[in-house]
Amino acid sequence: MINDQSLMPVSKLLRQPTELDGTGGILKISMPDGDTVYTVGVPQDWYSPTGPTWIYIVDHGSGLGLMDAGSVLAQKYIEDAFNFLKMSISDVDRIVITHSHLDHDGGAQGLSEISGGEVWTHDLYDHLRFVSFKEMNSNFHPMLWKTYKDAGPNRQINKNDRPDSDRHKKYEELRKNLKISKTVSDGETANGFTFFHTPGHTADELTIKFGSMFFTGDHVLPEISPHPTMKASFQKSILDSMPKKYKNVESFFGLETYIRSLARVAEYGEKAIIMPAHRLVNKGKINVMTALRAQSIIEHHVQRIHKILSLMGTETMNLEKITRKLFSHFQLDGGSYQAAVSETFAHLELLMDSDDIGIVEEEYAVWNGTENYKNILKNYREI
Ligand SMILES: [Zn+2]
Repeated sequence: MINDQSLMPVSKLLRQPTELDGTGGILKISMPDGDTVYTVGVPQDWYSPTGPTWIYIVDHGSGLGLMDAGSVLAQKYIEDAFNFLKMSISDVDRIVITHSHLDHDGGAQGLSEISGGEVWTHDLYDHLRFVSFKEMNSNFHPMLWKTYKDAGPNRQINKNDRPDSDRHKKYEELRKNLKISKTVSDGETANGFTFFHTPGHTADELTIKFGSMFFTGDHVLPEISPHPTMKASFQKSILDSMPKKYKNVESFFGLETYIRSLARVAEYGEKAIIMPAHRLVNKGKINVMTALRAQSIIEHHVQRIHKILSLMGTETMNLEKITRKLFSHFQLDGGSYQAAVSETFAHLELLMDSDDIGIVEEEYAVWNGTENYKNILKNYREI
């Protein structure tokens, strides 16, 4: 698949992980052009099948940049990694947050305090962090709302592996109180870093380019496909308080937005190497990939759209039925059910936008037999 081997970095495992999913592992990744990064796999605050968050330490000449801060629990693992690498955490001059999820920004304030490093985020992070989860998710499409309600509490949230509302509240406080030194917008550059706004997984997702490395946060991951957001759950009223250039919900949420952002990264093809926040190491394998990985995630979503339409056929189905046909029983276990429903709905939204499916009695989808969605997708891929 990769024609030009000269770009591929040399990855060296400096310390073995303590877990099969890579937790505790420390790697040195050296690019052929001379850039070097170190990375450590730090655990999330509760069990997650995505595995540890990979925090990257980048030497940008005048100091060290940290790409993401990890969860609240991560701080001691990061300090330990600095000790192991015989580096000083006080050399960190900035901590760049890729997006507003607890396993990326939970430890930001603590790390900023012990290192003296500034916290940098995307513009939208600084606006949306004052919006509660409840506010953010209270505008459900009737189809979605009905499915969540019918699922019952045990099938929505598995207390062992999903954040309960108390954890949500703590995280909201943490984000509100975070001292942000600088916000960046799309295309901005600083000390060799270029910041790309790549919304879709979250509205505020940043992909950070440094030389031929792309720190993709959760935007592009090996092995797994990150969850797209849904347009429907976001309340338009929240947008009223946002800066003018961020008032269009179509530009920051939903599957089409996500595919558009993936296409931006995929454009770099074999000329860029992905530094993902999860699954860099898993089960003894180091997943170093080029930006072409973004293209295969686009293809994955296109295949999922095909699958949804073919499983619907001429039948009229509610969201639960489509979700249960689309995912295996195992994938719908416990807390995964809610995630599977929102994943399915994000695809249905795109099909509603293209008028390929219609909604009957607020909760049933019916396929019109058309494939207009191809007109939307042809902007981002060859069909
Ligand atoms: Zn995330």
